[in-house]
Amino acid sequence: MSADHHDHDHDHHHEHGHDNRYSDMQARVKALETVLTEKGLIDPKAIDAIVETYETKIGPRNGARVVARAWSDPSFAEWLRTDATAAIASLGFTGRQGEHMRAVFNTPETHNLVVCTLCSCYPWAVLGLPPVWYKAPAYRSRAVIDPRGVLAEFGLTLPETKKIRVWDSTAELRYLVVPERPEGTDGLTEEALADLVSRDAMIGTAVAGAQP
Ligand code: FE
Repeated sequence: MSADHHDHDHDHHHEHGHDNRYSDMQARVKALETVLTEKGLIDPKAIDAIVETYETKIGPRNGARVVARAWSDPSFAEWLRTDATAAIASLGFTGRQGEHMRAVFNTPETHNLVVCTLCSCYPWAVLGLPPVWYKAPAYRSRAVIDPRGVLAEFGLTLPETKKIRVWDSTAELRYLVVPERPEGTDGLTEEALADLVSRDAMIGTAVAGAQP
């Protein structure tokens, strides 16, 4: 076995070890939540609301800013296409589980969808915490076998003529979908454009301008 190969294996296991620690952290959080709830110190619904906010609002806001910049600035879009890790880092979005990024651009001909079939690799730096369904076996297996059917369940029906490309994330490479810019948004600021970009649009289970 070459030294390179050994390093690669090591990195992979290290990252997946990280996922295990994340689960351990979730267990600790759950235990803490139980104690606080039993003592009447906190309403579990309040915790759910905070987690929900991080999953759908605060985390994905970073990615939405990347997309809005790409829509507004062709040279940034080109940089994002050729070296997503550097382009994203230039906006200040770096860190664990976001080290090696690739941006995949939707076009009138092709729609992109991201999954991690092996576990739950996800671009934390641009999307925050992964949604529960992203980690679910049903999504991980069916996104590859029947992407069109999965998208329909998300309420996204694409024309039969549109090709769907599925990208399987790994610990080494994580994907960000750059959705198509919606019609009629020519005069909008980057800030307003970012408001049109949902988390699901950057995973590929939605399109921009449609909620959620
Ligand atoms: Fe994974």
